Amino acid sequence: MEWSIVTQILAAVATAPLSSSSMTPLSCAERCVVVLGGGINGAALARELTLSGVTVAVVDSGDIASGATAWSTRLVHGGLRYLEHGEVSLVRESLAERDRLVRLAPHLVRPLEFYLPVQARWGGLFSAAAGLVGWGTLARAWRGTRGRGAWTVGLGLSLYDLLSVGSAWPRHRMVRAGSGGLPAVDASRFPLAGIYADAQMLFPERFTVELLLDAQQIAAAAGTSFSVHTHSSVRMTKDGMLHITSDRAAGRNTTLRPAALINATGAWVDRTLEHLLPALADDPQPLIGGTQGSHLVVRSPGLREALGESGVYAEADDGRPVFVLPFGPGLVLVGTTDIPFSGDPNDSRTSVAEIAYLCAAVGRLFPLHTPLPEQIQQHYCGVRPLPGPGCSGGSGATPGAITRRHLLVRRPGGPVPIWSIVGGKLTTCRSLAETAAAEVLRCLGLPVLTTSRERPLPGAPAIPATALLASAAASAQQAGLEPAAALQAAAEGVALFGARAPLLLAESGQAGERGKIVRGTSLPVGIVGACVRREWATDLEDVIERRLMLVFAEGLTRGTLEDVAQGLVEAGVLEPEAAAAAVTQCLERLLSRFGRKLDFSKPEPES
Ligand SMILES: Cc1cc2nc3c(=O)[nH]c(=O)nc-3n(C[C@H](O)[C@H](O)[C@H](O)COP(=O)(O)OP(=O)(O)OC[C@H]3O[C@@H](n4cnc5c(N)ncnc54)[C@H](O)[C@@H]3O)c2cc1C
Repeated sequence: MEWSIVTQILAAVATAPLSSSSMTPLSCAERCVVVLGGGINGAALARELTLSGVTVAVVDSGDIASGATAWSTRLVHGGLRYLEHGEVSLVRESLAERDRLVRLAPHLVRPLEFYLPVQARWGGLFSAAAGLVGWGTLARAWRGTRGRGAWTVGLGLSLYDLLSVGSAWPRHRMVRAGSGGLPAVDASRFPLAGIYADAQMLFPERFTVELLLDAQQIAAAAGTSFSVHTHSSVRMTKDGMLHITSDRAAGRNTTLRPAALINATGAWVDRTLEHLLPALADDPQPLIGGTQGSHLVVRSPGLREALGESGVYAEADDGRPVFVLPFGPGLVLVGTTDIPFSGDPNDSRTSVAEIAYLCAAVGRLFPLHTPLPEQIQQHYCGVRPLPGPGCSGGSGATPGAITRRHLLVRRPGGPVPIWSIVGGKLTTCRSLAETAAAEVLRCLGLPVLTTSRERPLPGAPAIPATALLASAAASAQQAGLEPAAALQAAAEGVALFGARAPLLLAESGQAGERGKIVRGTSLPVGIVGACVRREWATDLEDVIERRLMLVFAEGLTRGTLEDVAQGLVEAGVLEPEAAAAAVTQCLERLLSRFGRKLDFSKPEPES
């Protein structure tokens, strides 16, 4: 077994993470590629292509990052459990990317210590070894009921350390439960634990927006063209012309002839192909075999305190992995489930059974803090775009064992070359983009000019945190805020926009009522306009869910929605008479998509 592990590690170093089926070079008069899907993968790929001088148009049928990217567990991790499925090369790639993202986007990706509780000293060793060398059936058969023992966990974490060798990340350690500073997990049930480090990307939505902002900057510097079309649909004619139609403004409709098209629509990949190439729709093998994953956002001071500043990675009763994570100062994020899903990913909803399952998983770890229904602030769920039967590694496995590796698949037919991205993780979006861009450029006969390996995101601070805060506070004051309010706005602004906070806060004073704050937040109303002008936000849902991230704010009220609607009116994208209806629609969505009911019994804070 040891030799197999060594062989796997060596193979991991050499294995290319993407596979593609096309080798034919193509001639192309225009350097124009259309990326369908503005999720984290589509955005990362768009950025990577602009780095090589390509003209890129990104088209999303909804908003930026409105798919799986927003419904994820928000971890940037090597994926410890993928070792048990023999995915050593994927873990190695993910660990390298984890390092890079923490370095290149420190305002959005932060290291997080993890606590892995263990019930016994022994157990799970044979099962883990069988999984590691790819014997999935034996691994399942040998799985005990008490989970992995301390020896197994220690070995797995040692391998994790080994695969991230060369990085400055702390090595794992094994501890006895109950020591100070550690999560107060039930020590009688889990007397031991492994401690290791990974990272958290609190807002992948904002990370994706920044990828696109960077692509825009790269294109502007290179004199090439870059465009983002949200809330838009596409239709392709037989001669390869692509018509982009905006749901919002007819003036934004456009027609172009791309040299290539990338289908980065995640769990919608097969539907998109069916729509683009109906002639090929009878292909029996779907590329995607999605699974639904649900999360709870819990507001329980007791649980938050018991968790401290570490994440807990444990097993639920059925052996599935469950994460209990700090989610800002007052909330806890719990996820996730893994249930086969077919149908429109937009229709996936957290079920009552999933809520009960996740609550029970928390109760198993923290018996005094099983979340009560009233402590569940909201839930959310989405569909993982995992490889389906049309891809190798995508069929026959249990949901948890389906590979998390990404694939670039080119289906024959179509007037222009079309690649589809299948699978992937937040963690590997950049490496996926690098390899996919190289493949697309090669087929278009274009060189790779440079890559994003060492390129920070636009919000990555270049000055110390205190200097950035002071600069953001000065901007907020210029925009009309009192000094104390300006400091609070600066803190909230920096958490969202990083180094871009001073610019956006300064701009917030340009229109409307200067100094007015969005209720339930510290941000000026004028910042909504900055999101419209600079970040492609078009409506209330875009701003609440994916720009200002107020969907998770504990202080979210109807007044918050009204103030953001006012910001949209001031920015000229919402008619004043349509504002009330927009607020009602947003309230309905909060309830139906997130199970979040705003409390109208309390008086609204002063605006
Ligand atoms: C429950 C869950 C937990 C996860 N946890 C993690 C984690 O902790 N860490 C991690 O690294 N990864 C995690 N992942 C995986 C990760 O979130 C996804 O792999 C990743 O977000 C996929 O990004 P994407 O850009 O490929 O797809 P998406 O984010 O789904 O983006 C696809 C986009 O395509 C658009 N679209 C759909 N149809 C069309 C069309 N016809 N034309 C144009 N646009 C279209 C959609 O609106 C959407 O914006 C998780 C995923 C899920 C679901």
